[in-house]
Amino acid sequence: MSIRENVTSFEREVKNICDNCNRDVRDISIVAVTKTVEINRMNEAKESGLTEFGENRVQELIEKIEQFDDSVTWHMIGHLQRNKVKYIIDKVSLIHSLDSVRLAEEIQRQSLKLFKTTDVLIEVNVGSEDTKFGIKPEEILDFARIICKYSNIRLKGLMTVAPFEEEPEKIRPLMKLMHQKFDELKALNLENSLIDTLSMGMSNDFKIALEEGATMLRVGSLIFGERS
Ligand SMILES: *Cc1c(COP(=O)(O)O)cnc(C)c1O
Repeated sequence: MSIRENVTSFEREVKNICDNCNRDVRDISIVAVTKTVEINRMNEAKESGLTEFGENRVQELIEKIEQFDDSVTWHMIGHLQRNKVKYIIDKVSLIHSLDSVRLAEEIQRQSLKLFKTTDVLIEVNVGSEDTKFGIKPEEILDFARIICKYSNIRLKGLMTVAPFEEEPEKIRPLMKLMHQKFDELKALNLENSLIDTLSMGMSNDFKIALEEGATMLRVGSLIFGERS
């Protein structure tokens, strides 16, 4: 199938799932994950209506940004090293991977230099996996209380990469937990925050993510095919 066909059938499925669980599809944003995807294929996705791209490596992100005009927006979805913040701070619309106070300090420092505010999500390691970045679910609220002291950072919500399961139904309880933490975070009404984004759901588990309250999906292989 072509990228256009993939996008069309994916969007149709998102719409169906939303209808079935009484959600408004307009509340859902889709980030096309373009790691390892060539520019011409990204252009195909763009022409099919996807205008938000997510990359997980700084180098690839900054190389690709130069190839597009500002009708597309960029998401940093991978682990971010402090010494790389300066390269992307003025280029991305959302950093999904805030996972330490020291990283927040650096985002604050670089944002202040540019007199800008940077939108971030807290990355949560919801399955407490050794191989994944992110803070533990039980640490979210205390961590958020620290982050909201940085006046050039605006906290927008939470992001997670759920554990991979052949049977995605198994991760439903973890997505429920994310939604619960998201609601708790919202209820804190912290300064410098506007909690409206729950970034979870990938090619394998987006259906469950939507049913459990995701507002932002990050999908790669479903649109561009398997990565080699
Ligand atoms: C690669 C990646 C995705 C997309 O994964 P697919 O299974 O290809 O949809 C989403 N989020 C992050 C953080 C990723 O690194």
